[in-house]
Amino acid sequence: MISLSTKKVLVPLKENSYQVFIGSSILSILPDEIKRRNLNKNLIIAVDGNVWYYHQEKIKNLFTQIACKIFFYIVPPGEKSKSYLELNEFYTHLLNNGFGRDTLIIGIGGGVIGDLIGFATATFMRGVQLVHIPTTLLASVDSSIGGKTGINFGKRKNIIGAFYQPKAVFIDTDFLDTLPLEEKISGLGEVIKYAFLSDYDLFNFVEKKFNSLFDKKIIQEIILKSVSIKAAIVAQDEKESSLRKILNFGHTFAHAFESEMNFRVKHGEAVVAGMIAALFLSNELNLLSNQNLEKFLSLPLKIKLPLKFASMNKGNIYDIMHSDKKSSSGKINFVLISDIGNILLDVHANKKEIFNALQKTEDAIHKNLIKPL
Ligand code: ADP
Ligand code: ZN
Repeated sequence: MISLSTKKVLVPLKENSYQVFIGSSILSILPDEIKRRNLNKNLIIAVDGNVWYYHQEKIKNLFTQIACKIFFYIVPPGEKSKSYLELNEFYTHLLNNGFGRDTLIIGIGGGVIGDLIGFATATFMRGVQLVHIPTTLLASVDSSIGGKTGINFGKRKNIIGAFYQPKAVFIDTDFLDTLPLEEKISGLGEVIKYAFLSDYDLFNFVEKKFNSLFDKKIIQEIILKSVSIKAAIVAQDEKESSLRKILNFGHTFAHAFESEMNFRVKHGEAVVAGMIAALFLSNELNLLSNQNLEKFLSLPLKIKLPLKFASMNKGNIYDIMHSDKKSSSGKINFVLISDIGNILLDVHANKKEIFNALQKTEDAIHKNLIKPL
């Protein structure tokens, strides 16, 4: 039974539409929902190793009533698992255990599980049924919604992948109880991004509640708002031909920062630094007033970034951005901002402007770190 506190958001994609359920203890509705939707009863539940460690009793007990056949598959935690080796293991496991076209794959974990298992599901037998159960804040507000799946290859992140929509997404906020604080903070990077993309209500709400964002009720509210924004954007542009690009706000810089630091930083932190750089570049190009720059910087600067973000090699970052898969005709396509909710796509800047923005970013992060509390 769906309790009153469970929230539902529809991702409206015609025949690929699906519901996102958000709430505390909502995992318990999963068996009924699988039955109600007539989903396949041959289940493989792929679970992140850490999530399995903390939550295996809850997960094991859940499916006993509904499954015809059930296997649990534990994925080693960490970005390394987003590889073709791990994919190979998973396909092998599926085939060795006689899984066929009538399979339902349920991924339980953060972005790593969602991306890896989503891609495996998209490609196994040309696509079987998929359900996402995100267990990190970042996956809840971002990667579990919208159908992007994929693995890394060499040093390139998400370079092999597919768009593949799940049948449903279940965000049980109880999982966040065991999520390490730094992972929660990383998730806030994407939340702050939504605040920039939407309106002053959300921006002011996130800023005002910043110190209590992880309270049960507030985080649920934040997830609900974030998922609703993402669903609305994805609904208008499923395959990222135009509007969906606004979700990359801060990400052109962020991906370069991650690559420059050999991915030894959290994605959400890189997004925070990336948004700071995008704000400075917007100002540098006279798209954003000095007054708004200051006001908007105050939110991402609430997050204290590791010192290494204040000492990156600007030349390398510039070069990486040039070779990024989203740059076309040799120019870097920035996603910039002129006001909250007013995002500008495919903006170009010259080397000097980019270097200036990077220098100001470095200074701001540095100053923020040494600021007395
Ligand atoms: P993200 O969701 O940020 O993309 P990951 O999938 O790599 O990233 O998850 C981040 C880390 O958090 C991993 O070490 C993963 O094992 C761990 N993790 C995921 N969900 C939980 C949870 N609910 N409780 C504890 N640890 C978790
Ligand atoms: Zn992101």
